[in-house]
Amino acid sequence: MSDWGADKYGDPCRECGFVWTTSHAETLALLASIPARFREALGDHDASARHPDLTWSAGAYVAHVGDNLHIFAERIAALDLGAYGDTVPYDPDQLAEARQYEHIPILGALWSLDHAMADMIEAVEHSAGKEITMIIDDRGPQNITDIIRTTTHDAFHHVWDVQRTLQTVGGSAGESAKA
Ligand SMILES: [Zn+2]
Repeated sequence: MSDWGADKYGDPCRECGFVWTTSHAETLALLASIPARFREALGDHDASARHPDLTWSAGAYVAHVGDNLHIFAERIAALDLGAYGDTVPYDPDQLAEARQYEHIPILGALWSLDHAMADMIEAVEHSAGKEITMIIDDRGPQNITDIIRTTTHDAFHHVWDVQRTLQTVGGSAGESAKA
């Protein structure tokens, strides 16, 4: 088991409260609940709202989590299908700039999040029973449970970012998550 997340964020996470020792199955269930958690947090609020301490808007976090889950689904699938060698990292801030997260309609970002989640769950289920080890950055060797924990924490932490963003700035009529 990798201690990378617990060492970096605290166990539980000092900010969002994520517990790194949560079981594989419970973490996967938490991951599957993330789109509903984002929708609940967004409610009727304007997704372009931004917390004064944060660089990204509420909607940008949704776009990030969708992209991150899709990228990790691809990484898991690659290892599952026989790829070897270190996993190539990506820079989330550069991707945010290239994709112009701030201008992606929230309804599209949520659609992508749903699809990325389905891909992630499928990739994880397909890898069941196999020994997958991901080597990435300074995180040390990560097994499938470690990978699920790091991706779930990223998503859960950003739900918390969206909650505190919208609690701080309040909500006004704008482009909301409700169709
Ligand atoms: Zn956290």
